[in-house]
Amino acid sequence: MEPGPLPIPTRTATIRAWKERGGRIAAVLPIHYPRALLRAFGLLPVEVWGPPQVNAAYSAAHLQPYVCSIVGNALSFLHSGGLDVADVIVVPHACDSLQGLGSILLDFVRPRQPVFPFYIPRGRRESDLEFLADECRALYRGLAEVTGRSSSDDELMECIRREEEADALLAELHRRRPALPLSNRAFYHLVRAREYLPAETFTDLARAALDLPPADPDDGVPILLSGIVPEPMALLDSLSEMGATVVADDLACCGRRLYPPGTTDDPFRRMAERILNGPPDCTRGNSIAERLQHLIGMARRTGARGVVFYDVKFCEPELFDLPLLRKGLQEAGVPSVTIEVDLNEPLSHQALTRIEAFLEMVR
Ligand code: SF4
Repeated sequence: MEPGPLPIPTRTATIRAWKERGGRIAAVLPIHYPRALLRAFGLLPVEVWGPPQVNAAYSAAHLQPYVCSIVGNALSFLHSGGLDVADVIVVPHACDSLQGLGSILLDFVRPRQPVFPFYIPRGRRESDLEFLADECRALYRGLAEVTGRSSSDDELMECIRREEEADALLAELHRRRPALPLSNRAFYHLVRAREYLPAETFTDLARAALDLPPADPDDGVPILLSGIVPEPMALLDSLSEMGATVVADDLACCGRRLYPPGTTDDPFRRMAERILNGPPDCTRGNSIAERLQHLIGMARRTGARGVVFYDVKFCEPELFDLPLLRKGLQEAGVPSVTIEVDLNEPLSHQALTRIEAFLEMVR
């Protein structure tokens, strides 16, 4: 179990329990993919955001030095046996670096497990929806081949509805964040458990969290946390120690994946629809204007006094947006700060000092 008021099973315990029940594991790289489709084949999606603190020597031999540590660590982790527990690997093409990783796995490194790339369109037109639905159909065929199973439309819809329920509760946790009696770290332990828990287990935990007695009014500085992933998680303790409370979230691993329920009865279109209708995300091609409106709206709704962009070094999709995004926020009276980290390094004093100075300014 993870520390905090809720009994959150660890990733290792979850994988072990799933395997003991005869289930299989899909290791999934960031960011967007159809969880329900994997579950329809008995595969539990377990996401691989790096992980942090990996010996990156192996990936250094295969990747350019300007590739981010999420991708570098994933490759090294795979090489060191960290993904041996996985039966398949899914690589969504969120960015050029992940697309490159997919190619390396398919053409050069060739792990024991089958590797499935998953292409995400960069728009929301009907043609994008149909393209993504076709990607889901292609993934279905690939999974059917390697697992020897199939899934009817009704079974797929059941899996989709289970994920929709979990995602609705995830969104509710974010919406009621200020009233939850959870520290920054405990809140993120909970919402990030969506990265590996079966949807039904997450649903039970989320309901338990929403039933906790409300927190006393918080006098911390309310902030909006954006960027990719809050690693190392010590960041969240540091924010609490500095008197900041994360009241709004735009992280790629969290708030940008609050997918709304779908509307159609075609399971493939519905899975695609859900991903495309998620909150604005640079890796899905949303414009800076859309992201700006989204961030300003969130800051206004939650009372966040500023935005901390917490990014992984060399993350091109984020770096392209940041200058105009920050300028637009500043003009709207929402100050921001950017912090860049490497997943293999501890949070630097310099980064902490910059966050502390920012909090003093917005306090
Ligand atoms: S951190 Fe940025 S560059 Fe790295 S995998 Fe994520 S989106 Fe791609």
